[in-house]
Amino acid sequence: MIGDSISGTETESRWMTAVLSANQAVWDHDFERNQHYLSETWRTLRGLSIDDEIPLTTETWFTTIHENDVAHVTQEWRRIDAGKTDVINYKFRQRHKDGHWVWFLSRGRVVRRDAAGLPARIVGTDTDITDIKTVELESQRMTQRLAVAMEAARMGRWELNLDTGEAYWDDRLLQILGLRDGRNLRPGGDWLQFVHPDDRDEVYPYLADRVGKRLDVERDYRILNADGETVHIRALAKFVDNSETGPRYYGVNFDISRDKLQAEELEKARALLEYESRHDALTRLANRRKLDEVFSEHIASSRSGVSIMHFDIDHFKQINDTLGHDAGDATLQHAADVLQRHITGDALVSRVGGDEFVALMFEALDEQALQDTAEAIIREMAQPFYYGAQKCAIGTSIGIATCRDRDAENGSLFINADLALYEAKKAGRGRYRFYSPSMKEEARRRKKTFDALSAGFEKGEITCHYQPQFDAMTLELSGLEALVRWEREAFGLIMPDEFLGVAEDMGILSEVDDLVLRRVLHDIDQWRGAGIDVPPISVNVSASRLNDPNFADQLRAFDIPAGMLSFELLESAFLDTKNDVVERNLRAVRDLGIHIEIDDFGSGHASIASLLAVSPKRLKIDHTLVGPIAASERQRELVKNIVGIGHMLGIRVVAEGVETPAHTEILQAMGCDFLQGFGLSRPMDGARTGQFLATTAQALAARLQA
Ligand code: C2E
Ligand code: CA
Ligand code: CA
Repeated sequence: MIGDSISGTETESRWMTAVLSANQAVWDHDFERNQHYLSETWRTLRGLSIDDEIPLTTETWFTTIHENDVAHVTQEWRRIDAGKTDVINYKFRQRHKDGHWVWFLSRGRVVRRDAAGLPARIVGTDTDITDIKTVELESQRMTQRLAVAMEAARMGRWELNLDTGEAYWDDRLLQILGLRDGRNLRPGGDWLQFVHPDDRDEVYPYLADRVGKRLDVERDYRILNADGETVHIRALAKFVDNSETGPRYYGVNFDISRDKLQAEELEKARALLEYESRHDALTRLANRRKLDEVFSEHIASSRSGVSIMHFDIDHFKQINDTLGHDAGDATLQHAADVLQRHITGDALVSRVGGDEFVALMFEALDEQALQDTAEAIIREMAQPFYYGAQKCAIGTSIGIATCRDRDAENGSLFINADLALYEAKKAGRGRYRFYSPSMKEEARRRKKTFDALSAGFEKGEITCHYQPQFDAMTLELSGLEALVRWEREAFGLIMPDEFLGVAEDMGILSEVDDLVLRRVLHDIDQWRGAGIDVPPISVNVSASRLNDPNFADQLRAFDIPAGMLSFELLESAFLDTKNDVVERNLRAVRDLGIHIEIDDFGSGHASIASLLAVSPKRLKIDHTLVGPIAASERQRELVKNIVGIGHMLGIRVVAEGVETPAHTEILQAMGCDFLQGFGLSRPMDGARTGQFLATTAQALAARLQA
């Protein structure tokens, strides 16, 4: 039931027009006369048209307002009904016809009460305060968020009144300071006692200066709180001066201990990474990077010069290949240990890769001192060590370089030590060499040979010559040894001693052997095709080929005439450590009907037992041993012993380097089985060997006929 028109009373019209505005509605309920006036705005604010029903009963009214507002509105109404107040003043949300909530501020008065004291007429306004309320709520939310953020950021807030010297510290600041007295207002100067004693010398003058000049504060420092804990804080404060507040600082102090801790952890992690990146994980020695850095630093600052030793572990690869990586690791650790014990004084020992180590000595040591150290290290490295129950024999070669004055040779010092190391290895391992300028020249030549050999390989310049071998008693042809040759364009014939070292450095020694073997098989075919009788042929096989896991398969792919071939293996190819690859290869060699000969027997690299384990068909005595037998009694004895050992074991003996009739006679007298040497026949190329074989056969036939 709605009254739509103004009831015509005297007081009303004046104030109503005064208050009527876009967001303010007027209502006037006269319960006694049952007249209800609601202004136009009252409806529009609620989205109601003239035809919509107005919720006037208490029940319908409460269905339209927000459930959170029901309680306090009910309570207001009760107070008014009970006569406790005539003033109506409360806020509530009522549903707009569209469905959203509209915030209203209801203000009015009870203008009349009935006999029972209940309100008979109430008049008032509803103001739409949705906008204000939204802002208010938003700011409330902001405050809450800020509180949460301050809590999370461990942030305490403070103000300092510069006129009075009084400070306000909020609860969180008190908490950070470990204060539990709840006193938020305190003398500003109290702060100073909390500054950590170790930081006071810096912080006091800083604060005095800032405050004196009224400048903003921004500083990290430590405080010692009431609980005796060190707290890292970040202090930020703004100076503000206006007529309302007077000169003041508004500040916050963040507790950044946790960040500091994290920063420390990070720093530790970073330092660890830093360390790892400059050290070898296995031996804990410095690595190449660290070595380079330390070297540059030292060279830049020092006047005392520097010495370098470059080490290479002999036989490391064999240990790694035959006993496995763990044994290899143990070997490197053992080596690192030996080096560290011997390189004393101001020096850095580093592992620069694989089985190579460098010792950097921060002064130019004299030759004698370096020599003593090198010899001691070589001696100890040559001592076998045990990996579990396995005895491992290693050794080391050493290259040494020194530079005395600051600028000369600095850049090439490592290269020089490396060159010296190369020479030491070439000299037979387990040795040391000092760098000398001629090594650089030698290296340059090697590089040239290196390039030329690569090209020669491509151009098919690698071939072989054959040197005949003879039965010592009858001096009849008994076999041939195939010897590699490089027919270098514009240079002529190059002998193996001049290029096999480079081929080994290049890692193509196996391929050289392979080429020679193909050549030999090819020549055998050719000669046989021409009706020539071919004797057994010996082919040299390098240690690297013998250690190649693919060697057996490669051999099986060839069509090798049984009993025609022997492989000459250098004594140094056999180590006393068991090697599965070599054993497998040798089994395949024997299965293919290829004989085994030990080349350069007696050069002292392996035990006789390990040599005999390969059941060789023949032993060869090198020409360096044979050469002196005519002149030297001792040498004669030595060769005679070797022949004796061979015969005792049922192995036949070949003597190389037979140059003179005297050689032949002596060796015949010793009972040596076969002879090979310039005195009987020089090595010949393939074509001449073919002719030689043909004429020898003819000569033999003629003799048989005679
Ligand atoms: P080696 O296996 O001991 O071969 C014998 C060497 O002694 C040959 O030198 C031969 O020409 C030389 N010689 C023969 N008779 C005499 C003589 O009466 N007096 C003197 N002073 N020397 C004599 P070459 O051909 O220069 O070969 C040198 C070394 O090169 C060989 O020594 C062998 O270790 C290596 N070699 C040769 N061919 C091959 C090959 O195909 N593969 C591999 N891996 N090494 C090879
Ligand atoms: Ca040989
Ligand atoms: Ca030899």
